[in-house]
Amino acid sequence: MQITQNAVVSIHYTLTDDSGTKLDSSDGTPLAYLHGNGNLIPGLERELEGKAAGDKLSVKIAPADAYGEYDKSLVQRVPRRALKGIGNLQVGMQLHTQSPHGVRAVTVTQIAGDMVTIDGNHPLAGKSLNFEVEIAEVRAATEEELAHGHVHGPGGHHDH
Ligand code: ZN
Repeated sequence: MQITQNAVVSIHYTLTDDSGTKLDSSDGTPLAYLHGNGNLIPGLERELEGKAAGDKLSVKIAPADAYGEYDKSLVQRVPRRALKGIGNLQVGMQLHTQSPHGVRAVTVTQIAGDMVTIDGNHPLAGKSLNFEVEIAEVRAATEEELAHGHVHGPGGHHDH
C-alpha cells in the first residue's frame, strides 16, 4: 500500500543539520505516525506521500516547511524575578511560560546580571533539516486511530 491521507506509516529516520550533526533518530524502533494529520513537519509528509514500505529517501527540508523561519520578535529580555519559582536557571533550559496565546515553550539563551533572554522560537527554527528515511510499514488506520488523529500501538501514541 502507498502512503496516502490517513495511512499509518512506520519509519526509521535519522535527522541531521547542515553541518552533519545528528539531531534525532528513530534509534532502531520505527516511529509510527498517521499521515496527513499534521503529526510530522509538512515538508517531510509531502516527500513521503505516494511512497511504500521498503522505500528509502534522502531529503533536505527548508525551514519554511519544517519548524519555520527564525523570528526575532520571539526573543525577549525579562528580569530574573519574572521567572521566580524556577530554581537553578541555566542557559539552554526549556521553560513553559504563560502568554496571551496559552502556554508557550521558550529556551533560555542568555543570562546577564539580572536580565534573562528567552527565545520562543522552536530550537530547530531557521534550520534546514536533512532526513534519511526508510519506510518500514504502511497500513490502513483503524477507526479509533482516525477519530483520535494519531496512531495507537507499537511506535505510536501512549495508551489511553
Ligand atoms: Zn488515541
